[in-house]
Amino acid sequence: MAGELRLYNTLTRRLETFAPIEPGHARLYTCGPTVYDHVHIGNLRTFLFEDVLRRTLKLFGYRVTQVMNLTDVDDKTILGAQRAGLDLRTYTDRYVEAFFEDLATLRAEAAEHYPRATDYIEQMVALVQRLSDNGLTYTSAGSVYYRISGFPGYGKLSGVRPEANLAGARVDSDEYEKEDARDFVLWKAAREGEPAWETALGRGRPGWHLECSAMSMSLLGDSFDIHTGAVDNIFPHHENEIAQSEGATNAPFVRYWLHAEHLIVEGEKMAKSKGNFFTLRDLLARGHDPLAIRYLLISVPYRQKLNFTFDGLHAADQAIDRISNTLHRLRTTPIATGPGALPAEEIARFRNDFLEALGDDLNTARALAALHTLLRTVNIALDAGGLSGAAHANVLAALGEADAVLDLMPAAADPGPADEEHIQRMIDERNGARAARDFSRADTIRDQLREQGILLEDTAHGTVWRRER
Ligand code: AMP
Ligand code: ZN
Repeated sequence: MAGELRLYNTLTRRLETFAPIEPGHARLYTCGPTVYDHVHIGNLRTFLFEDVLRRTLKLFGYRVTQVMNLTDVDDKTILGAQRAGLDLRTYTDRYVEAFFEDLATLRAEAAEHYPRATDYIEQMVALVQRLSDNGLTYTSAGSVYYRISGFPGYGKLSGVRPEANLAGARVDSDEYEKEDARDFVLWKAAREGEPAWETALGRGRPGWHLECSAMSMSLLGDSFDIHTGAVDNIFPHHENEIAQSEGATNAPFVRYWLHAEHLIVEGEKMAKSKGNFFTLRDLLARGHDPLAIRYLLISVPYRQKLNFTFDGLHAADQAIDRISNTLHRLRTTPIATGPGALPAEEIARFRNDFLEALGDDLNTARALAALHTLLRTVNIALDAGGLSGAAHANVLAALGEADAVLDLMPAAADPGPADEEHIQRMIDERNGARAARDFSRADTIRDQLREQGILLEDTAHGTVWRRER
């Protein structure tokens, strides 16, 4: 794939041309949800920015290994489990499952790995031990803290500088403000009624920041390419991750740091704590189309705030209708016998504009504008008597390429309930074959479904399917 992919790097405060450490392979860590409740559409804006990033990397020819963690032990999950009277795993399981459902509803592609923090306690303990060997920790009342005065690079991502007179002052909570740029907790001593692990660091549980350093390096290596989150993650979360990882390895942790701006409502960040939020389920219950929600959430370039309104959602709905109507006309209008009123240059220009827009720090607004321009041209050509066979094939191929990133095109036909049952039976049969290590049978079933226009994707929570467009 020709063209250059440029991304804005929070660390250098510049647009940079993407070049991975390992040629052809992009390694990506995306901070995932804290599974104490359903995520809201602000969180989903960030997760869909990461979906667009992942698909754009593929469009530019990279193989992608993406890790998205699930924070299933922190202050919020522990409190939630206590209130519900459930053990932590049972409590968080239901929100992990709901999260995967939400991602599938919005057509986010599955990441390669979804590590859960509670499955990586050993790696977290080992990381703290390496930091201790490097003289970067101290213990107080059974908890282990990071000594930020021992890490000269502290503040390089966020620009936050710890005050000299704060040396030795500590903060124990997982989330805190810039004014609290002080020694942070790595390992928290066990407290009455809280889950705890018996480890070489003593009985306790990890701090939130430690979790991401341990899981990312375990799955992607000491140094990898891209790390993302929303802007509120820059400080303290990502600043602390750098201190933990580089303090342990003495190697550069991450090359490109990307941060999405917030989804806001009436000028304020959408947040659970403010009560001004909608979950995806809230919007679906009001009858909104998941595709329109996806459209809205990806339509504003990720470094701009996205102001959520129902007018905006309505406009997104109309945009989806335009896409779907043109597609329907393309599929149903007979091939013209004449030359076809859609010059190949128009399609080539679209391909070029689309690629350039995404290559320009994922400018989805420009990419969508290019798509709508093409759709208008297609409609005019269809009005004027249809497309030639070649033009028809050419435009469908170009739309298919664009939709590999956008994923906004409706299915060719809605599967009826009987259809769904049939698909599920086939999936179950395939899972049975895989469990029995009969991979050729499993592949045959996958191919049969593909012939019927059904695409399978194996995700961390099982196999999901969607209709090919
Ligand atoms: P949490 O589950 O709180 O850890 O959040 C999951 C992700 O969503 C994090 O990367 C947050 O920074 C991000 N996030 C939280 N609120 C918003 C918002 N209003 N808009 C966009 N992203 C958000
Ligand atoms: Zn994280």
